[in-house]
Amino acid sequence: MNNSQFNTLQASLGTLSFVQLKRLRKCVDDRISADHVGKAIAVHEESVSECAHCGGHHFTKYGTTSRGQQRYYCKSCHRTFNSLSGTPLSGMRIRDKWHQYSEGMWLTMKLREAAKELGVNIKTAWRWRHQLLSQPRRNKPSELHGIIEADETFINESFKGRRKLDRLSRKRGSKGKEIPKVPIMLALDRNGSVTHSVLNRNTREELERSLAPVLTPDSVLCTDGNLSYQTIVKNLPFKLDHKRLIALDNQRVVDGIYHIQTLNNWMMRWKQWLRQFNGVGTAYLDNYIAWFRQMEQAKDDDSWVEYAL
Ligand SMILES: [Zn+2]
Repeated sequence: MNNSQFNTLQASLGTLSFVQLKRLRKCVDDRISADHVGKAIAVHEESVSECAHCGGHHFTKYGTTSRGQQRYYCKSCHRTFNSLSGTPLSGMRIRDKWHQYSEGMWLTMKLREAAKELGVNIKTAWRWRHQLLSQPRRNKPSELHGIIEADETFINESFKGRRKLDRLSRKRGSKGKEIPKVPIMLALDRNGSVTHSVLNRNTREELERSLAPVLTPDSVLCTDGNLSYQTIVKNLPFKLDHKRLIALDNQRVVDGIYHIQTLNNWMMRWKQWLRQFNGVGTAYLDNYIAWFRQMEQAKDDDSWVEYAL
């Protein structure tokens, strides 16, 4: 449609009744949703390279599903799967609402609002949220380069979202004690790559397991005075320049460029954003870091459905 035709169409909207406008809006929403989701699925279909059941590589096309997804037949395990099998979207049944829901992820839409707007229940909205986060959670950089900042932070342990029984038994055990803190290792470089690990315990071994693999030769690691980092650097198979910034307020800067303030600012923004959830279950902490990371790194026209696949 050319511009003048579009202008005519737009002008004609003024003649529609309230009910007609609402019907039109539904129609437009459905089309936008089908378009975005369809595009994301088409791109994803190109990259299907293994059987969703056995991981085998010998499969043939085998018609389409009732929802229009390409179906495959695996020659190794003799089962069928479709292009969405094993992806978070395969568990989300109401396809015409995916796009609308996923757009709400950019705005950190409240579950109650999302559920109401889409006409699904809160449990469904909650499940979708975490399904849409399962891929971003895996989307971590494998390496950091240049000036790398690393630090730990702590969040109160919480059993929110767990089954009731589970929670009760754990609560009884820690009665009267201080709430345990969950340690998180965060590291970033100045190119904008951010990685994180939720740790079980704040030990050098655990820090090392999540930090050492992303460190690269010819980089400079900036940390606070925590002695664990010294050992981690010593244990690396290559030499790495390590700047320990020992100051009570983490504000120290060496040579004008070596500091951990980029990371401290990142943590502050994340914790501020996290506050709106009124406590996050420890089991889901990983998702809530990935969510924030994805929002900070995304470009304007990115679609969340694309990230989820
Ligand atoms: Zn198979």
